[in-house]
Amino acid sequence: MTEKPAALAIAGLDKAYGQDTYALRDVSLTIEPGSFHAILGPNGAGKSTLINIVAQTVKKSRGRVTVFGVDIDQEPVRAKSLLGVTPQELSLDVFFTVREVLNNHSGYYGVRDNTDWVDALIQRLGLGPHADKPARALSGGMKRRLTIGKALVHKPKLLILDEPTAGVDVELRHSLWNFVRELHAEGTTVILTTHYLEEAEELAEKITILREGVVIADAPTEALLQEFGTRRFDILLQEGKQWNPCPQLEVEVVQEGRVRGRFEAEENRLFFECLSRNADIIADLQVERPRLEEVFLKLTGNTVNSSGASKGEGS
Ligand code: ADP
Repeated sequence: MTEKPAALAIAGLDKAYGQDTYALRDVSLTIEPGSFHAILGPNGAGKSTLINIVAQTVKKSRGRVTVFGVDIDQEPVRAKSLLGVTPQELSLDVFFTVREVLNNHSGYYGVRDNTDWVDALIQRLGLGPHADKPARALSGGMKRRLTIGKALVHKPKLLILDEPTAGVDVELRHSLWNFVRELHAEGTTVILTTHYLEEAEELAEKITILREGVVIADAPTEALLQEFGTRRFDILLQEGKQWNPCPQLEVEVVQEGRVRGRFEAEENRLFFECLSRNADIIADLQVERPRLEEVFLKLTGNTVNSSGASKGEGS
């Protein structure tokens, strides 16, 4: 039996700009077919460079890249036909209407008689009322939808979304994600880069984190949260009861009858011991799930601004 090829297999990938600027250094990565995979990292980590190499708009310096087993050096056109990439920048053929843009792009991929799928894309991306308007007349959010439509005209098996929701309002974000979820449920492999860590946490089954061109984490989302996430707890005590201190845990009595604290994965046991020490006096207990944002900060040493976007030290 032959093994199914990876949706994307990257081995020993380097990208050097000039003599000693490495955007990517010895990156190896496997993305399983049918998975939903996020590639994260601070600004300047090399995410766009990696995606642009896969999309063949940037030349790699070294290494091997295959898309569903097709080598981008040996069969560039076939490799390209298997993927759809939404670029970060919204460059559209402004003189054509939405429908024309999608039809022209179908032609570019050699797809004939694509009317049904183009109609379906227009509907599913909520572009119906704008289908016959020139692309230049669209709002930023609608242009974003159209770039996603362009990436999908040839029904790629691998969809790469590079910051698809940057600057997009909440409603549009939700509808985009519903559509992408449907595509994923139908079998499309999805790779996502985003600054919105809560999106990656919610959608991606597996996460790769890049830092300064190097892979620093590559694991199922749940495993990353379990291993590196901090848990917070909030405990209400029965009336009139006194908390029995747990000296090895970070615990704070915030008001009479209420205690809060936090623990790391390796402190699970301490937490359980602390609970059992207080078992008879606890009235209510909440433990918060670890958050990806915290894991990301721990691993990359980066800061996060108020909008949730990470700020790289390199840019
Ligand atoms: P990210 O998408 O994670 O923000 P990039 O892939 O855009 O990161 O950039 C990775 C590194 O490569 C950065 O240090 C960036 O300055 C550098 N870089 C990207 N493109 C070029 C270029 N055309 N010439 C020189 N350096 C570049």
